[in-house]
Amino acid sequence: MSTAAECFARIDALDGRLHAFLHVDRAARARVAQGPLAGMPVAVKDLIHVEGMPTTAGSKILEGFMPPFSATVVERLQAAGAVIVGKTNLDEFGMGSSTENSAYGASKNPYDLTRTPGGSSGGSAAAVAAGLCDAALGTDTGGSIRLPAAFCNQVGLRPTYGRVPRWGVTAFASSLDQVGPMARTVDVCEQVFQVIAGPDERDATSARVPAPRRVDVGLQGLRIGLPREYFGKGLDPEVEAAVRAAAKFYQAQGAKLVEVSLPTTQHALAIYYLLAPSEASSNLARYDGVRFGYRAPGVKGLREMYDQSRARGFGPEVKRRIMLGTFALSAGYYDAYYAKAQRVRTLVRRDFDEALKAADVLLTPVSPVPAFKLGEVTTPMALYLMDVFTIPSALAGLPGLSVPGGFTAGGLPIGLQLLGRPFAEGELFSVARAYEQAHPWHERRPNL
Ligand code: GLN
Repeated sequence: MSTAAECFARIDALDGRLHAFLHVDRAARARVAQGPLAGMPVAVKDLIHVEGMPTTAGSKILEGFMPPFSATVVERLQAAGAVIVGKTNLDEFGMGSSTENSAYGASKNPYDLTRTPGGSSGGSAAAVAAGLCDAALGTDTGGSIRLPAAFCNQVGLRPTYGRVPRWGVTAFASSLDQVGPMARTVDVCEQVFQVIAGPDERDATSARVPAPRRVDVGLQGLRIGLPREYFGKGLDPEVEAAVRAAAKFYQAQGAKLVEVSLPTTQHALAIYYLLAPSEASSNLARYDGVRFGYRAPGVKGLREMYDQSRARGFGPEVKRRIMLGTFALSAGYYDAYYAKAQRVRTLVRRDFDEALKAADVLLTPVSPVPAFKLGEVTTPMALYLMDVFTIPSALAGLPGLSVPGGFTAGGLPIGLQLLGRPFAEGELFSVARAYEQAHPWHERRPNL
């Protein structure tokens, strides 16, 4: 574990090149001396409120906004002894896969500064990978914890929907958003998860289930499912080889590999890009130039103030989503798009229910390719495709863990994804731990 002082020194030395942070609180101290995370320096994605630090959501529209309270997850970290060192960069409101949609500029991948750390929680992944903190919080709507974890050789958990409270977390798509931890090792990731998970009266969507515990799942006889649709065309051969090698490892330890099928996979991306923008168009209606942050100067009248504040405050991807969502929800199109997408979502969930009867956990790639070069992926659609393997389980509300799975010949990290049944995070951590013990990829730190 690092001390906060060591982290601040590393931030001063390195963050000029990485741009992982949007705000650093050098005066931060642990609020309590003892606890499961005593003294641990933790960074928080800048979509999550920390009292005393600005929340920008990576957007110009929240410029100057100071949240009057901390998110439940932040209160829990502080009560466990963590030191909140600062707020990390992200794609605006979490919309993106590279941090290139941040109004404050992209973060860099510590393993290759010409490449993206992934997104949208890219600042969090880059900060942990570079040793600027020991753990970080991200949010995952369709892949935003798992993708950057994979691109930066980190462990990242998207918890079961409802497992971690969202009170104090800026909403993107409320039927999908989840907060989760990122860390260099499975153990640290699980420790942070255990601190932040659990019911919260202030979040009506938080699930009333018992607190998570560490479990040890034997690999002997464990059924590991490989979804047929997640392999083959479009998948980078080095990524595929790493996932197949991990499957062989589990088999050698006594697990049984089973092929499963998730036939709705091909529709999941399309329905995500109806449902998530629809919810976003509603959630983002509150940024009107009156209540929070930025107000366009030099305008005449109320209408122009609304129009100009939103026109100048939001970036192009956020505007695209608001327009898409508003269209999908409008009278005459609602049934054809939004309602239909909801019905397909039920089928996606059913696919997983079936697959997770035949298998105990699923093993897949996190992303079709390793970290790409900043500026290289230019069309929105090509970026949306980064999440083909993370979006379906998010639609189904299931937990997903991204674990370091090796490196390409060119030195880029590769992520493995483990998917499980609702509230089976402990099982995922256990299965990941067995792999990590035999493959300590986390020891390969970036050369900075
Ligand atoms: N990249 C996906 C999107 O742009 C997922 C983002 C996320 O999980 N926040 O919507």
